[in-house]
Amino acid sequence: MPSETSHTCSDCAARPCRSRDEAKYPPFCLTKNVDKELLDEVLKLYAENQELRRIAATSACIEGEFYGRMSRVEETIEFIKRMNYQYVGIASCVGLLPEARIFKKILDAHGIRSYTVGCKIGAVDKGFIGIPPEKKLNRGCGHESMCNPIMQAKELEKEGTDFNIVIGLCVGHDTLFLKYSAVPTTVLIVKDRVYAHNPAAALYTATSMYSRFKKELGL
Ligand code: SF4
Repeated sequence: MPSETSHTCSDCAARPCRSRDEAKYPPFCLTKNVDKELLDEVLKLYAENQELRRIAATSACIEGEFYGRMSRVEETIEFIKRMNYQYVGIASCVGLLPEARIFKKILDAHGIRSYTVGCKIGAVDKGFIGIPPEKKLNRGCGHESMCNPIMQAKELEKEGTDFNIVIGLCVGHDTLFLKYSAVPTTVLIVKDRVYAHNPAAALYTATSMYSRFKKELGL
């Protein structure tokens, strides 16, 4: 059920929950007002499910040991090794297959087996999901395959991967892949054609003269 508070963590500058500095919690603090029953339920998940605890602990150790020193690619490889994953599934946008190819070579060099599925697998026309010709990239000039993230997830499940990685799936297509992925999954690349696949750049430049959000931010 939606909460009545209009302030949440995005309105908090000091973030004292990092060190549990209770005297500095803002009045609207989500930790100060935490649903204790819900928190207990969540902690029980970590306590009772060894895999969840291992994922959480492995991530925390990598964060603690390599913060700011390892790139995301290196952290991902470290995570795969420490989790002892044996077969990595790569769900890639077909537009980012060159990046997926480089990543696979790096995995190979580390002795990590992988299997890549491009988003157009099956080559089903966009008309199947009701996309009209004028909404296709080719404006209806012939066949245009839909992205099929559910099929990517099912193909990787059939192949028996034990950890999946998303490379550049479109917003929404990644939603479906994450919903249907049968195994733990991480995202290596988030697609953003405008900002070299770095969506944070839009936010880092949001108050600059190049901002795309002057209207939204009242600049
Ligand atoms: S939990 Fe409280 S202290 Fe932490 S970021 Fe949210 S509002 Fe700030």
